[in-house]
Amino acid sequence: MKKQTILFDMDDTLIYCNKFFDLVVDQFADLMEMWFHSYHISVPEIKKKQAEIDLDRVLQNGFAPNHFPESFVETYEFYSELTGRGKLPEETERLYELGSSVYGHSIEPYPQMYETLDELQAQGHELHLYTGGDPAIQMRKVTEAGLERYFDDRIHVARHKTAEFLEALIRSHQLDRSSTWMIGNSLRTDVIPALKTGIHAIFMPAAQESCPSTTWRWTSSRRERTLHFPPYPKFPQPSTAIPIRMPLAPKDAGAFLLSAALPAAACASAIRTD
Ligand SMILES: [Mg+2]
Repeated sequence: MKKQTILFDMDDTLIYCNKFFDLVVDQFADLMEMWFHSYHISVPEIKKKQAEIDLDRVLQNGFAPNHFPESFVETYEFYSELTGRGKLPEETERLYELGSSVYGHSIEPYPQMYETLDELQAQGHELHLYTGGDPAIQMRKVTEAGLERYFDDRIHVARHKTAEFLEALIRSHQLDRSSTWMIGNSLRTDVIPALKTGIHAIFMPAAQESCPSTTWRWTSSRRERTLHFPPYPKFPQPSTAIPIRMPLAPKDAGAFLLSAALPAAACASAIRTD
């Protein structure tokens, strides 16, 4: 097989991320529900508002290190003003600390992450790490997970993972688009930018992530999972497929053969048991 260039996303592709955020959001919403109990604000409402505020902040400012704890404080301020309940400095402080605690957890790689990277490296493929977030936080995770030995000086951290950033990365490293792959769990920041820049894309849904859009169809059986993507007729059609091993979730621990290809007028990713 011709040597391929593979760009890996990190969070929820190589290591767990969302589940730590979900745990902290649960604690936040429970605390808020208790404080605002007499105003009948439900946990789902609180979570929805916090998610809206956090997304707004990320879209406006990128992954600033404090965006997450500040979204807690801003949600608290929103409901304080809405209800007229007084704001207490100690509550604000507690929420900020709770939000910040998400960055303190230790790294948890996906099952077989190291075996997968070892195998790809041994096969001679060029591996890049392309992750979004605050550079200091992301590099701490890289170091803790021991990822430098696979990615060396090919580690790229973007505050916004856009098609423009990816295009610049492809050009600066003179990557051959016909043999370059982006593997990630985000349609918005991994798959779509990859397709826009004319490289191959492999979509790896995070373990607890459901199908993110009703226009996407997910079928699942014991032997095979297939994702059906909506048509993107404007995107070029890749010509090669690369087999790699990568489980999707702990319950799927074991060997998987992942092959992906983008057939005419549609993108498809298939994962089959080995
Ligand atoms: Mg990710």
